Amino acid sequence: MELKDIIVNGLEAINKAETLEQLNEVRIAYLSKKGHLTSVMGQMRNLSNEERPMFGKKVNEVKEKIESAYQQKVSELEAIRLERKMKEDAIDITLPGPEFTIGAQNPLIIIQREIEDVFREMGYQVVEGDEIELDLYNFERANIPQDHPAREMQDTFYIDEHTLLRTHTTAIQTRALEENAPHIPLKVICPGKVYRRDDDDATHSHQFVQTEGLVVGHNITLSDLKGTLSLFAKRMFGDDRVIRFRPSYFQFTEPSVEVDVSCHICNGKGCNVCKHTGWIEILGAGMVHPHVLRDAGYTDPTLTGFAFGAGVERIAMLKYGIEDIRSFYTNDKRFIEQFKRYE
Ligand SMILES: [Zn+2]
Repeated sequence: MELKDIIVNGLEAINKAETLEQLNEVRIAYLSKKGHLTSVMGQMRNLSNEERPMFGKKVNEVKEKIESAYQQKVSELEAIRLERKMKEDAIDITLPGPEFTIGAQNPLIIIQREIEDVFREMGYQVVEGDEIELDLYNFERANIPQDHPAREMQDTFYIDEHTLLRTHTTAIQTRALEENAPHIPLKVICPGKVYRRDDDDATHSHQFVQTEGLVVGHNITLSDLKGTLSLFAKRMFGDDRVIRFRPSYFQFTEPSVEVDVSCHICNGKGCNVCKHTGWIEILGAGMVHPHVLRDAGYTDPTLTGFAFGAGVERIAMLKYGIEDIRSFYTNDKRFIEQFKRYE
């Protein structure tokens, strides 16, 4: 190819190149060692000594022009490629994000956490235990000896002679007492599932959730218990609530009381929920029986304590107006979804 054709064709080829790959082919064809510019140097042989420097100068000029055009085109094509890539990789921030569904918590969990929070703020430690328990901790240490009728009353699921499904969270308390004795103060809240042989209906379930509390120390009195539970009732059912004690009987405590809270529906005037008495029973409580403390290893006879226990289902039913205890356990999505949290 003649030098004058090389400059025209070369610049045209560079101009026409649409991709860096095509442009590279042009570079090989014109500028490489086997390219047109190298082969045109072969024509030097046919020239006289006088003509050669002029020809060499011309070849260099053409080479520089083609190289410069080539470099410019490389920059152009790289810019185009970068721009295209940025467009391809761009994120459309106007697209809606993926939707996350936040599940609902079973109201039993909600209430249990609420109860735990109330007592945690008062310095209680939350302690849990095993659902499979020894007779020793479920009955014996709770002051319910072998032949005691309370064992029959409670209709226990026995696994073998010594092992059972715990019938109350008192089993967690008797273990906590044993682990901590003779040290004080002891302030624990014990939530957990418990089991009793029962025919399930709207108000009975063979499985339910209890939360019990226990305090041991010097000079702990029934009025401490009343103050504590009064605060609890206000936190759970509203600041206007008051409580009252009625004498009762439990093996674990002496004296024992039933605890009523003034009705949060009718404000004590009387309604269906409180059976027109103005009061709703929410807890069993009392002063820890001296035998319980002694059996757990507390040697100081001047130590006293109080204990209380509540059914979490009952509190949840009262608070949310739930009428059938089975609702907590039958996993009806429509029921659970009412307790969905929106964040
Ligand atoms: Zn009422």
